[in-house]
Amino acid sequence: MNSTISYIGRFAPSPSGPLHFGSLVCAVGSYLDALAHGGHWLVRMEDLDPPREEPGAATRILKSLEAHGLHWHGPIQWQSKRYALYEDTLSTLRQQGLLYPCDCSRSQIKKNGGHANDFCRLKSEVSEPSALRLECAGGEERFVDIWHGEQRQQIREDTILKRRDGFYAYQLAVVVDDIDQRINQVVRGSDLLETTGVQQRLFKILGATAPQFGHLPLVMGPDDKQKLSKQNHAPAIDDRTPAENLCEALHFLGFKLPSSAAAESPEAILKWATAHWRRHQVDRRNRQLH
Ligand code: GLU
Repeated sequence: MNSTISYIGRFAPSPSGPLHFGSLVCAVGSYLDALAHGGHWLVRMEDLDPPREEPGAATRILKSLEAHGLHWHGPIQWQSKRYALYEDTLSTLRQQGLLYPCDCSRSQIKKNGGHANDFCRLKSEVSEPSALRLECAGGEERFVDIWHGEQRQQIREDTILKRRDGFYAYQLAVVVDDIDQRINQVVRGSDLLETTGVQQRLFKILGATAPQFGHLPLVMGPDDKQKLSKQNHAPAIDDRTPAENLCEALHFLGFKLPSSAAAESPEAILKWATAHWRRHQVDRRNRQLH
């Protein structure tokens, strides 16, 4: 990575389905914020949860990004190839006495003020399989979100870093990778705003500076209660109409585009949008497309 680049951002899709319009909005927003600040925009494939992945989705996502002119810097990072790094971090936390195996249910954890019960924490042998929890509950984390301003989030429970089924948890991998890739700006969907406090806590525990976070508006599904997602049957983005899709995504983000824009190439549209990107013009409200 070029050491003179001061902004390093990323787009980190989970391959649980193809890119849909909501994820295109996130990709475009994070791309533009990075490029407009002279930064690098990396792509990290968060293929960490095989039971929830759809075969072929990762390749389709990458093809869609390319079809839309969203070209990334450097090699793609695949989380499925980074288990050794996650295991090293778990060993460090274990040596610090901050990690414990736990087979408590969520309601037991809640009843016990965010920690596992003493039985689980102090027993020397755990019934397998169990999750690994980080001792981190208590107090709050404060940060300033680019679009949502000052945030104060209570850390209510010891977060799981390795799941009962043996897979590494999102919270562990996302923070370890952001540190390892020297990500200093995270622009992503606002469904992840409420999980940011826990991530801030983990950055601190690992002795790293957290990136600046900015959470973009969500495209809501037809019932207006849930974001567009594979679960509510959001259609895959049509790679044959990239210019129209980009114009729609930019419009959603608050851009007023010249009427001729849809006739341009994706690269030309993104170049124009990079030059016109202003953080304060982003409409941060979650809403339906029309
Ligand atoms: N992989 C996560 C998702 O697709 C995003 C993680 C992040 O941006 O921090 O929802």
